[in-house]
Amino acid sequence: MAPKLILELVDGQKVEASLIGSFKPDDGKIDILLEKNGERCKIPLSEICCIFFNDDFDQVVFSSDNEVKDNTESLEEVETVSGKHFQIRFFEEQEFQTGFYARSIDKHAPHKLVFFVFDGIVLRSQHSRLCEILEKKGLLQRSDIQKILKKQQSLKSRRVGEIISEQNKISINDVEAVLQKSSKSGTIPPNTRVGDILIEEGLVTRQQVDEALASQHSGKKKKIGQLLVETGLVSEDQLLLALSTKFRMRFVSLENITPHRKALDALPGYLIRKLHIFPLEYTDDRLVVATSNPTDSTISNIIRFSTNQKLELIVATFNDIAAAIKLYIPEQEDIVKLITRDSEESSVITEEEEPEDPVLKESDSQIVRLCNQILIDAYEKNASDIHFEPGTRNGLLIIRYRTEGFCKVVHRIPSMYKKPLISRLKIISGLDFTEHRKPQSGKILLSVKNKKVEYRVEITPTVGGNEDAVLRVLSGSKTYPLEDMGFSQDNLENLKDILTKSFGILLCVGPTGSGKTTTLHSALDCINSPIRKIWTVEDPVEITQPGLRQVQVNPKVGYTFQEALRSFLRADPDVIMIGEMRDSETAQIAIQASLTGHFVLSTLHTNSAPETIVRLREMGVDPLNFSDALLGILSQRLTLKLCDHCKRPYHPSDEEYTELVDAYGADWFKAHNMEDYTDDLTLMKKVGCEKCDSSGYKGRIALHELLMGTEQAKNAIKKQYSAIEIKNSCLAENMKSMKMDGISKVFQGITVLSQVLKVCA
Ligand SMILES: [Zn+2]
Repeated sequence: MAPKLILELVDGQKVEASLIGSFKPDDGKIDILLEKNGERCKIPLSEICCIFFNDDFDQVVFSSDNEVKDNTESLEEVETVSGKHFQIRFFEEQEFQTGFYARSIDKHAPHKLVFFVFDGIVLRSQHSRLCEILEKKGLLQRSDIQKILKKQQSLKSRRVGEIISEQNKISINDVEAVLQKSSKSGTIPPNTRVGDILIEEGLVTRQQVDEALASQHSGKKKKIGQLLVETGLVSEDQLLLALSTKFRMRFVSLENITPHRKALDALPGYLIRKLHIFPLEYTDDRLVVATSNPTDSTISNIIRFSTNQKLELIVATFNDIAAAIKLYIPEQEDIVKLITRDSEESSVITEEEEPEDPVLKESDSQIVRLCNQILIDAYEKNASDIHFEPGTRNGLLIIRYRTEGFCKVVHRIPSMYKKPLISRLKIISGLDFTEHRKPQSGKILLSVKNKKVEYRVEITPTVGGNEDAVLRVLSGSKTYPLEDMGFSQDNLENLKDILTKSFGILLCVGPTGSGKTTTLHSALDCINSPIRKIWTVEDPVEITQPGLRQVQVNPKVGYTFQEALRSFLRADPDVIMIGEMRDSETAQIAIQASLTGHFVLSTLHTNSAPETIVRLREMGVDPLNFSDALLGILSQRLTLKLCDHCKRPYHPSDEEYTELVDAYGADWFKAHNMEDYTDDLTLMKKVGCEKCDSSGYKGRIALHELLMGTEQAKNAIKKQYSAIEIKNSCLAENMKSMKMDGISKVFQGITVLSQVLKVCA
């Protein structure tokens, strides 16, 4: 006799059948014979919530010696997609990819043995109490649990009289006296409420009584979790961790997660904001969404309804979700609002000749305003770049800004604006607006509130007959004193020492956007004095300083880095700054200049100081000349800084401390006299507030590695050592690697290890 089954389908239907062959959950289907008409069919598990098996099947799943103890841990409540609730006992070892076996403990269940399909259930919740989970995780002590349960009990049984006395600062004795007097006088009918008596006696108003009743009511409803957080026994994050265990959901940190674009597109922005959720993944038509409110089952229902997709809810902290929303979900900005926004005085200006403004719809006042507003908006939001990315066909024009190193979608503009907007950009940057197939570069000068802002424009043809535009925003940069650039005391002193020299070369190296130019300008600021003649050649000039003579290269007319350098050498320089050594000729002239009595500063696009030496050798620079010229090589990276407004001190665990020591290099850690592990050792951790868009990070901090041109380093260069040999030789001479610098900044509470490791290998 084949085992009898009852299948509950996702649409709520019940199907009675008998099993054909055996049921293997991971096949993804079940082969059955329908009771009603004897037809044979295979039903995919994706259409099923759960399957009840009669007792004949029981021994297939459980051998008799496999009985499980009664404990609350395995008790769960399950809610299916079809809206049914089941009380079950769950067995860890009976879990499969597609679902799990359980025994129903409801009296009304048709059979005891059930197989639940994961995709067919909305919510699973363990019966074990939150406090027990927290205790098991070592986050809460038994004595604290008793305290909190008592508090919850006392909140439930608080009397109206007590609450009134507390809220209105009337002594409880007065209240009691009034009540006693009334009951003794016998003038009050039975069942009169305490509140009414007090009002009658003129002690309180109706409103005050209502407030007390409301407070009594909310005291009754107070959940244990809420109380635990309010009394500070556990943190909000710890509570969420326990809740995620209770509801068998994954608990994740969203900090280093990059969401799938498809996941972001699956839900409308307003819904993401309203439910305070964040969509992360979209694989095998399953949508993974993070929530900080796992107890609210309406969230999953709304998402399912809105997407008609299979869903996995995971748990993340409220702040993590807020930060992710801020970063990835653009606020709906009304295009009309952008165009009609009260504009400050702004106008496009040209340096040399005025380009003819052709009569086109690109010059329609709407497009002109929109274009100007985007440029101003990006400048005001401190964006370093603006990306115009037109979608194919009727796709929107997406505009992203890069701020503090990261791109973020800021505007979504209707498709009808994309062509005229790109044309307008070409016109004001002096480009050929009839050319659509070749890349073009130009620049825009915009006057914003009497300040000149420059934008470097790069137009690139993309698929679907579109053109992308990327604008680099210039002139926004300032010069900062060297002391404010985040150098360690040692590095600052060494660097200042280098800057007292009258000849030789100082290089600043790192990838694009690591702040090399800003650092060189700080160095120049240090030596900028009327007694020195300082020439700079840059492409583009991003920072201007009074006193410096600054040159912008212009390859179109043959004014290259080499040309400028040759001209400088005839123009009586003391100091020469070269924006970037891109080719071997520039590098060789720079070294020559530094050997003939000039102080030269430049940047190079390499990853580390030792690597720079090898790279220059490859560029054909003579190692003997270079070693003679070398004053120092400063390698630099930027990483996120903890927000000063909300970061919090904490005592790191032993493991965390060991991780820091290992990352630093245990021997070096000792040799450099770094912090010991003591009870008062505190580090800082991120929290998240208004000022940092809930991310916990605000601004960036530079990490440095300064290789000094010592005798030993010069020798290593002459002997053509490899990058690793050079590095080891310099470390032995007291150089601190960039990672070491970063970890010192972790101990100073400026940043955290994960951010340091992001930029240091
Ligand atoms: Zn903050």
